[in-house]
Order: sequence, then structure tokens, then C-alpha cells
Amino acid sequence: MIIHADMDAYYVSVELLDKPELVDKPVAVGGPSKNRGVISAANYIARKYGVHSALATKTACQRCPNLTLLPARMGVYVDISRKIQAIFARYTPTIEPLSLDEAFLDVSASQKLFGSANVIARNIKQAIMAELKLVVSIGIAPTKFVAKIASDIGKPNGFVIVKKNQVQAFLDPLPVTRIWGVGKATESNLTTLGIKSIHQLRQLPPKKLTHLFGQQGLHLWQLANGIDPRAVITDRHAKSISHEITFATDIDNREYLLAQLLHLTELVAARLREHKHVGRTITIKVRYSDFSTLTRSRSIHNATYNTQPIWKVVKELFTTHIKTNHQALRLVGVNVSGFNKQGHQSPQQTDLFEPQENETGIDAITDAINKRFGENILKRGATIKKTIGPRGVYDVDLHGYHSRIKYTRSD
Ligand SMILES: [Mg+2]
Repeated sequence: MIIHADMDAYYVSVELLDKPELVDKPVAVGGPSKNRGVISAANYIARKYGVHSALATKTACQRCPNLTLLPARMGVYVDISRKIQAIFARYTPTIEPLSLDEAFLDVSASQKLFGSANVIARNIKQAIMAELKLVVSIGIAPTKFVAKIASDIGKPNGFVIVKKNQVQAFLDPLPVTRIWGVGKATESNLTTLGIKSIHQLRQLPPKKLTHLFGQQGLHLWQLANGIDPRAVITDRHAKSISHEITFATDIDNREYLLAQLLHLTELVAARLREHKHVGRTITIKVRYSDFSTLTRSRSIHNATYNTQPIWKVVKELFTTHIKTNHQALRLVGVNVSGFNKQGHQSPQQTDLFEPQENETGIDAITDAINKRFGENILKRGATIKKTIGPRGVYDVDLHGYHSRIKYTRSD
């Protein structure tokens, strides 16, 4: 069985831990409206006014004039996310984080030791409440697709279990928009055909769907029929590891963008080191404000898991290929792939046997960037806090911009 665990209104809930006086008021974390900011997260009270993530802050404040808008503190969210993941890890090593506050857990092999998926999920939910004072919604199902819908449907404070023989009955009445990959275009195509529910979708012959939507059509048909063979992919078994950030405000400040890329590089490199993956191909991804997306890659001779050589390439790719004079960016990402087939190898002996070297390297880089950008970043309202954690993460929040961090990997 697969558990999908998704924290309720995560960023806002974390903020409210320190601000109990705001608990029964509408609160959102987001970028300021003067910078064309958007909402990153809203509590359930704010949601009643129609405030939700990705909404322009300006609109949010019109809909909810009493809204308390807080700047994001990504470093804090990253720290607490680690604690959440450590709770997951008590029950299974097979964890696939999707973002700071959301993960799939395959507990199939854990049930002998810890009890049924239901019992494991209850324990996780209780531990997160007892130790972190935060609420997680849980979905339990035989597949990732159904587990994700289940956790979402129960929100807030959800706990929904869908047994194997209940999958079809669970899916059938749901709108097709519940299916991953059904965007506005697919939805309107399906509506034209009179198809609104998953039940109606699965009545169509798969051939017709392939004819209409290509390969995606078959995938839709499979999901509608509860077929989703995708496994929970841990970083350990990944073929690439990446991190991306979507900003709450489109950004053209290149120094800020570089600081964010460094932050992402550190997160990716830390995950590589944790699983002893060494990679050769480094890719950066950017998305402009008009949603056009660009990726640029370079392969290096010696596979690595060290921050410094990866950062060197990331910086060079950005400096050489990414222009920001015409359009600002809404997303940046860093990906490392091309892992050594044997895996679990050291790139250079010194790195393997002197892990402190790595940390020294991270410190050096962090110090260098702080020195280089310090005038712009560190002094500006002291909004950037150098909180170097065990894996070299530090806070890069500044100017009240803030962002959403997504974990990605491929199998
Ligand atoms: Mg969440």
C-alpha cells in the first residue's frame, strides 16, 4: 500500500506556530502586491474568502481586506520538512518527497514490522502532531494516483483509505480534472465529448482516447481504470535528482537568481551525497513570466557529488545562456543526472574519505557568495539568514520574495 502524506497549509501553519494570535484570522504567506507578488499558501480561513496559492496578492487583498500577509521563511520550512521526513523514515525507507510538505511512502514491506498501512499512517499523523504541532492529511491506496487524490479529498485534517476493491467506486464519481495531467485544454476537449466524470471517461474505448490525445489518452484511460504502475521512487534509486523553485514574484535580479541557484545546487548536492550518487550532467531550467521554458546542460569529465564543481557549471550555464533583460523569471531549477552505473562510488577518494572537505567546500562557497552579494543580500533588511544546517542549507529569503520548492527525480 502507498501512503500520500500532505501537510495542511504548510507554510502558513508553520508561521502560525510562532504567531498564535493569528490562528483564527485569515493569513497567507506571499509576495507583496507592489512587486506583482502571488500567494504561496493560505490558511483555511483565508481560503473561505477565495484566497489560494498562485493567486495575485493584489487580488487576494481585494477579496479579503483583513488578510495578514507574511513573507516566506524558506529556511524554516526546509528545516521542519527534514523533521517530517525523519518521522516518515521511522516506518519505511521508501519515501518519495514531492516538495517540502508532501511525500509518497511505500509501506508494503513495513507492515509486518509496524502493522497495517492504516496503523502506520495513524502513527505518522500522531507523531507529526505531537512533535511538530502540525497537521498532515493522509491518503492510503494501492497506487500513487489514488493515494494522492485520497489525501486531497479528506483535507483539512484528512485520513482517507481506499482499499483495492474500493478503487473504482472511489474514482468513478470524481470529475476528470482530478486526474494528473488533465489541464484546461484536455478538460474542454472532454467536455465537448460530454465527459465530465472519471466513470464516463473509462467507458470510452482506449483507442478513441489515443486517437484524441495520443499517448496521454491511454494514460488517462489507465488512470480512470485505477491502473497506475508507477512505483514510489526514492532518491537512492533515482537516475537524476533535481530541485526547482517557483517564485512568488517574477524576478529579473540576476544576483538574487544566482543566490537561489546556489541554494538549489546545495540542496541537490546534499541529496546526491546522502545517497552516494555521483553525476556528470548538470542542467539548469528556467521558466519566464510568459511560461516559456528553457533548459541548458553541460557534462563534466569527473562525476561528482560536491557542491563546488556543480555550482561552477550552474553559474556558467546561467551566466552564458540565460537572459533576463526582456523577461523576468518565475522558476529556476537545477538537475544532476548521468550517474555512474555502478552507483555508490566516490568521485575522488578525498571526497569519500574526508566528508569534512565537502562541508568546508560548502562553507567556502556560501561565504564567497555572501561576500560577493553581501551588499545586496545580507544587508537588505537582514532578510537573508545564514543558517547552515547539517546539509549546507541556508535561508535565501529576501525582499519578501518567496517561493515554493519542489523535489524532483526520475527513474
Ligand atoms: Mg500541502
